[in-house]
Amino acid sequence: MKYEENLIMLRQQGPLAIAAALVLFIILHLGFPPEAHGPRTTGTTMLGGIAFLLMTSSVVLSARMEVFEDLFGGLDRMYQVHRVAGTFAAIFALVHFFGVPKELPESVDPVANALVPSAPLGMLGLIFLVIGLFVALNRKIRYSRWRPTHKVMAVVYVLIIGHFMTAPGIFFDRFSASGILLMLAAILGTASLIYSLFGMNRRTAIPFTIEAVNALERATEVVLKPVGDMIDFKPGQFAFVEVQGKGWSEPHPFTISSSPGEDRLRFTMKVLGDWTRKVREELQPGRDVMVRGPYGRFDAAGAIGRKQVWLAGGIGLTPFLSKLRAMQPGDDRQIHLVYAAREEQDAIFLDELKARASELRNITLIPLFSDEGNFARVDKMKENLPDPLGTYEYFMCGPKPMIDGLMKDLKKEGVSRGNIHTEAFEFR
Ligand SMILES: Cc1cc2nc3c(=O)[nH]c(=O)nc-3n(C[C@H](O)[C@H](O)[C@H](O)COP(=O)(O)OP(=O)(O)OC[C@H]3O[C@@H](n4cnc5c(N)ncnc54)[C@H](O)[C@@H]3O)c2cc1C
Repeated sequence: MKYEENLIMLRQQGPLAIAAALVLFIILHLGFPPEAHGPRTTGTTMLGGIAFLLMTSSVVLSARMEVFEDLFGGLDRMYQVHRVAGTFAAIFALVHFFGVPKELPESVDPVANALVPSAPLGMLGLIFLVIGLFVALNRKIRYSRWRPTHKVMAVVYVLIIGHFMTAPGIFFDRFSASGILLMLAAILGTASLIYSLFGMNRRTAIPFTIEAVNALERATEVVLKPVGDMIDFKPGQFAFVEVQGKGWSEPHPFTISSSPGEDRLRFTMKVLGDWTRKVREELQPGRDVMVRGPYGRFDAAGAIGRKQVWLAGGIGLTPFLSKLRAMQPGDDRQIHLVYAAREEQDAIFLDELKARASELRNITLIPLFSDEGNFARVDKMKENLPDPLGTYEYFMCGPKPMIDGLMKDLKKEGVSRGNIHTEAFEFR
């Protein structure tokens, strides 16, 4: 069978581009330091510069630009890099703050220096950064509260630009080679901030109306009818769902569980918190919904290997549902679909999966129910897969502890990281 879709896999180019920018900055900073700067000033301003470049990467990634999805392997990966870059930016900024020389050279008038806002701007930026980071990494704060609070990071970014742009020459030379690089980064970061703060980062909204809300075991299937054109997506992609009307607050991301060939759009939503509970209990047919997307690069059709294991944990079945629904007879991949759930009753769409597996013949369904002692672990995979684990390409979606554990164990079994693809169902 000929695959229409492009080869889209977990991409390393994005993280490598960030690393290259950091290396370039370090080379410029150490290679062309202003003569007046001592080694301590050069070293600590370098750490400050690295912190700013990491912060810029984080800001640019939060702008959700489509071009970066290919470079980073999807929006969920972009948010992971966003979080890691933000955390390291704070660490470098703290080291910069404590390390930078506080005493002024004799030639500098302390009164004149105190009039320059660099130090208070830096201090304020650092305080907000530490608070912002605490909030950003605190999973106990509800997402609906967390999101607006996280926006304080935009203020931090502007304060830090103010900090280095007004820094006295004795500490930082704006027009040195590395200083110019930071200014270019500031322009890029500010443009990205404006782009996302004014909502330009949201992909065009496509209008739908709700046709049906079907209650499943601990989940809800929402069926949407397009008002005009259908959204153009690939199996495995997700979109932001915005229910219109008072009380529905922010958009939520969900994988599209229908196939691209259907004239309806379907989402399967596990009841997890306030919003998903409201969907199940209050959402009625006829209501307007905006769908923004598609996003994501969890695309098994573009994989190199013909022998694939699709591993779904609970609601992590949704990307595979779309792929299965879209699959045509005669597909030459050999796919083992491992579907892990707590108990058989919990395994939504199990009958449909069984029917598809017998229809398509290249699909082998392996249900694992933990109440029967069958956990999604490497020993169970060995038991159920006909060939050695290292001969398959893996696509996994499910609870983070399950995916992390499996990833570690598969690597121990000799499966290369490049043959394991995962989809994260969270952004923070
Ligand atoms: C790429 C992606 C695909 C997903 N696909 C599915 C799917 O097919 N089926 C499914 O059941 N779930 C899916 N999810 C998870 C789903 O988005 C959350 O379970 C849902 O938003 C929870 O909302 P809540 O208010 O009911 O729960 P809460 O208890 O408020 O939130 C639970 C967690 O969901 C996340 N979350 C909540 N609100 C948002 C938001 N507005 N934007 C982003 N994340 C949020 C946060 O990590 C939060 O900690 C997906 C998530 C992502 C990122």
